[in-house]
Amino acid sequence: MRTSGKNGRVSNAEAAANQPASPIKLGILTSGGDAQGMNAAVRAVVRTAIRMGADPYAIYEGYQGMIDGGDGIRKFGWEDVGSILHKGGTIIGTFRSKEFRERAGRLKAAANLVDNGIDHLVVIGGDGSLSGLDMFRHEWGSLLEELVETGRITREQADAHPALMIAGLVGSIDNDLVGSDMTIGADTALHRIVSAIDDLASTAASHQRSFVVEVMGRHCGYLALMASIAGGCDYCLIPENPPAEGWEERMCAELKRGRDAGRRDSIVIVAEGAQDRQGNPITSEYVRSTLEQRLGEDARVTILGHVQRGGTPSAYDRWASTWLGHEAVKEVLSAKPGGEGMVMSFRGNRVGTVPLVEAVANTREVPKLIEAGDFQGAMKLRGGSFTEMRSIFHEMAEPSRVDVDAQSKRIAIIHGGGLAPGMNTAARAAVRLGISRGHTMLGVREGFPGLRDGKISELHWGDVEGWTADGGAELGVRRTVPPTEELYSISRSLEDANVDALLVIGGWNAYRAAYLLHSERDRYPAFNIPIICVPASIDNNLPGSELAIGTDTALNVIVESIDRIKLSGSATKRSFVVETMGRYCGYLALMGGLAGGAERVYLHETGTSLGDLYKDMEWLRGSFRNGRKLFLAVRNERASENYNTEFLANMLTEEGKGQFDVRQAILGHIQQGGSPTPFDRLLATRLVSRALNLFDEGWESSKPQSWYLGLSEAQVAHQPLAHMMEHIDPTFRRPLGQWWLQLQDVFADVSYEPSTPEHSSL
Ligand code: ADP
Repeated sequence: MRTSGKNGRVSNAEAAANQPASPIKLGILTSGGDAQGMNAAVRAVVRTAIRMGADPYAIYEGYQGMIDGGDGIRKFGWEDVGSILHKGGTIIGTFRSKEFRERAGRLKAAANLVDNGIDHLVVIGGDGSLSGLDMFRHEWGSLLEELVETGRITREQADAHPALMIAGLVGSIDNDLVGSDMTIGADTALHRIVSAIDDLASTAASHQRSFVVEVMGRHCGYLALMASIAGGCDYCLIPENPPAEGWEERMCAELKRGRDAGRRDSIVIVAEGAQDRQGNPITSEYVRSTLEQRLGEDARVTILGHVQRGGTPSAYDRWASTWLGHEAVKEVLSAKPGGEGMVMSFRGNRVGTVPLVEAVANTREVPKLIEAGDFQGAMKLRGGSFTEMRSIFHEMAEPSRVDVDAQSKRIAIIHGGGLAPGMNTAARAAVRLGISRGHTMLGVREGFPGLRDGKISELHWGDVEGWTADGGAELGVRRTVPPTEELYSISRSLEDANVDALLVIGGWNAYRAAYLLHSERDRYPAFNIPIICVPASIDNNLPGSELAIGTDTALNVIVESIDRIKLSGSATKRSFVVETMGRYCGYLALMGGLAGGAERVYLHETGTSLGDLYKDMEWLRGSFRNGRKLFLAVRNERASENYNTEFLANMLTEEGKGQFDVRQAILGHIQQGGSPTPFDRLLATRLVSRALNLFDEGWESSKPQSWYLGLSEAQVAHQPLAHMMEHIDPTFRRPLGQWWLQLQDVFADVSYEPSTPEHSSL
């Protein structure tokens, strides 16, 4: 797999220099089932194409638009894809074209593309659409030959388009493409499902009732499994991993054990393609009647259906689809005639490519393996983290024990730094997984000051019931890093409570506190225990992790706020300056700007110069004169000490000279609140599980190891705490390398109209 990042980037100037005299014409279409985030991809493809000197053409109603030609193929300009980021579905329509499956249909499609001079195509769809695309590319030469022979096109026309260059993007809420961690729409679908589960859980708990929830996924259990973990559900049935015979009895026994241990409700998730080992479908109705008959429960079925496809896309589906669309254009513009068609993939927070034929073949292999009863093979194709999450779910739902034994290790959980949504999810996962693995789990109340004061108590399996969906931190959190004079009291508290290990779930100051304790272990023997830091901070400024727990939730709050702010200005001509949190880390500002559709982003990392602001104002005045109605700038709270939000708003007011009015919105603490997103819940669960593994691996060591861990290109990796200072910038409180800064190029290409002067800081 090739990975395209900043270094591999073809600059706009280079791309332009490589262009033939007449611009390349690039078609974009969406096909098959719709998925939230398709619009973000369409927007990115259109704008990147324009920025790179190509002419984008929207093809309406999928492949059918190509077959019908005429008005179904339209040249698109910059503004044609304005204000669509927040919309679900696809503005250019999608269709399941029967005609395209036949050569006769593809012949018409080829003729219409040639008429329009289009021989570059970006298609967003599922595996069906992509295999159709590859067939079309393959046949292109022979289709054009036939068109020449029948006199439909001239030889010159055919010679001008010797090959069809393609790139595919996977739009599928099922997340079923083998070779990509995520597909367009899957994250939003998960948002819809988890929010429905949260709602059901509250009513189920009130009535002590059982719910069976059916989610989409004919051959792929991604949505069902991830929703089960993120929603704190109790049993899950997926196609790839059918339960062994007698599962009905085991399921009921398990649900009963959960109830006995303190659960107030039972929620079973069933993927629509769930089946038993003999291949017989397991329907949600069958599960319901089983619960009713065997447990005497009042069970209800909720089939979520198409709401999973609907609604506004999540922040992730906007920024990731934008990035994918951007890279697809680079891929298709640099594709060689006769070369293999590529699908853009998303692996470990990076966009790469996988050969289209291979990706489709592997994806189609999964249902075949399931049908053949090779469930291990099917799970293997789904990848390592899917299998890992499957076993984590098992452990959380079906713990090997809910009572601790006396010999167990005592692990204390503590929060520190600023509040981050998902802290509760992480603490709950730590308690349940820790107990299941034989440990005694302790909770430290009120952060490091609480530890100093000995506020440590045991947490039982049932104590953390209902914490999954709650924002905030039930254990309490404080920003304080303990001063040296408090270390003695802290060491006494750890000794008094017989703490064997410390699990620190928090942000910058929590990491500093953990580092301090670790550094002082020779002086205070009580600190000579394994300490592991798990990143939880909306700022996303922690070393060793590309994403921290809470960051995705904050980003979604920002993007939802921007949607509303934009709507509030839709009736007039208005400029907005939105200020995000993040301290000196610009992640929320850049990603918020990218996902919210901002025209400018101001970050501390790149600085804000008067020269840049001057150029921005020049451009903005011209743009409003040309009909612009809305301008949005997103500014990190510490982007510049003096060119602050108020300054920017005043400057816009002054320089706008009454052409538009100006509003500023400082989003503030709403970014720290709210129920954690599915991504944050899953990240919390996965990281905590790995932290507990690390403790288990380290008990035997005479010199206990301490780590900070996190996501590094999709893998959970850990680094020694002793070396943490080498990887951070202590002045600006952020890691030395920040992966997401490469997205500035993407931002510039989708936000800077071609008339925009080049920016020195971006
Ligand atoms: P998805 O792309 O979501 O998997 P489908 O499998 O229904 O959805 O495919 C969408 C469209 O892609 C089809 O209606 C058809 O136009 C085209 N298509 C799918 N498979 C092929 C194929 N084997 N040959 C040609 N076109 C195909």
